[in-house]
Amino acid sequence: RDTDRSRGLGDVYKRQVYLQPKYNPQNDTLTGAEALIRWFYKGGDILSPKYFVPQFETDGTIDIIDRYVLRQVCKKFKEWKELGYPLYPISCNLSRHQISRPDLIYILCDIVDEYGVDHSLIDFEITESADFADVQYLIKVLKDLKAEGFKISMDDFGTGYSSMALLKDMPLDIIKIDKSFIDGIATGEPNNKDMLMTQDILAMSRHLGIRSLAEGVETFEQKEYLREWGCHYIQGYYYSKPIPITGYEYLLKKIMLGQS
Ligand code: C2E
Ligand code: CA
Ligand code: CA
Repeated sequence: RDTDRSRGLGDVYKRQVYLQPKYNPQNDTLTGAEALIRWFYKGGDILSPKYFVPQFETDGTIDIIDRYVLRQVCKKFKEWKELGYPLYPISCNLSRHQISRPDLIYILCDIVDEYGVDHSLIDFEITESADFADVQYLIKVLKDLKAEGFKISMDDFGTGYSSMALLKDMPLDIIKIDKSFIDGIATGEPNNKDMLMTQDILAMSRHLGIRSLAEGVETFEQKEYLREWGCHYIQGYYYSKPIPITGYEYLLKKIMLGQS
C-alpha cells in the first residue's frame, strides 16, 4: 500500500520471520517452507518487503536482514530437533548483494554451525537476473554452497534473460516457476502460452534432474494442473499464506502426533 511508503521506515518497530509452507501436490503433505521477512508498524500493520527489500539491496542493508532470517531459522531448527519435531528444509533468500561478498560461505556456515543444523536443511534461493555482471562468479559461489551441502533454488524462474544457459551450468536442486506463469494456468483459456511454457519448464527440469516448485498457486485448478504435469512442490495461497513461526510449529506438532 502507498501509505506504507509515506510512513517511512522510521516508524517500523519490530521485525519477524514468517514461513510460507510448501506442499507435495500428489498427497497434500508438507515438505518445507520459505522464510520471508516481515516488518511491523506500531499497531500491527505490516510493511511489505516490496518497499524495503529493493532499497536495502542497493546499500547492502539486506545482508543484515538475510543473516537475521537465517539465524532465526537455525535457532528454530535446533529447538525443533530437541522437541522431536519432524524437520523439513527451509529456504532463505540470498540477496544479490550477499552473493558478491568474498566471505559469504564462512558467514553462512558460521551461523548454521552455531546451532548445529544439518546443512541439507537449508536451501538458499537465488534470483535469476540480468544484473549478474559475472555469471561465472555466481556459478562458483553456488558450487561452493553445494560443496558445503546446502540446497539451492532458482527463484522467479523464467523472468530473467538467460534462463536456459543458467539451468545448464548451475548446480540447482529446485527451480521455482515464477507466479507470472502460474497466473495464466486454468484461466478457462485452454492451452494458453503460460500453460504450454509451464509444461515445457516442468519437462526440461525433469530431464535435467532438477526438482520443480510452482510459486503463487492460488486455486485448486492450478494445483491440479501442476500435479498432473508432475510439479514436485507447490507454494501459494491455495495451501497457505506466509504464517508466523508459531503457526508453522503447530503444523509440525500435528505431524509429529500423527494428527495431520
Ligand atoms: P519472493 O521471494 O518471490 O517471495 C514470494 C512472494 O510471493 C512473497 O511476498 C509471498 O508472500 C508472495 N506469495 C506467495 N504465495 C502467493 C500467492 O499465492 N499469491 C500472491 N499474490 N502472492 C503470493 P513477500 O513476502 O511480500 O515478499 C516479496 C519479495 O521480497 C520476495 O519475493 C523476495 O524477493 C523479497 N523478500 C522477502 N523476504 C526477504 C528476505 O528475508 N530476504 C531477501 N533478500 N528478500 C526477501
Ligand atoms: Ca524467494
Ligand atoms: Ca519468487
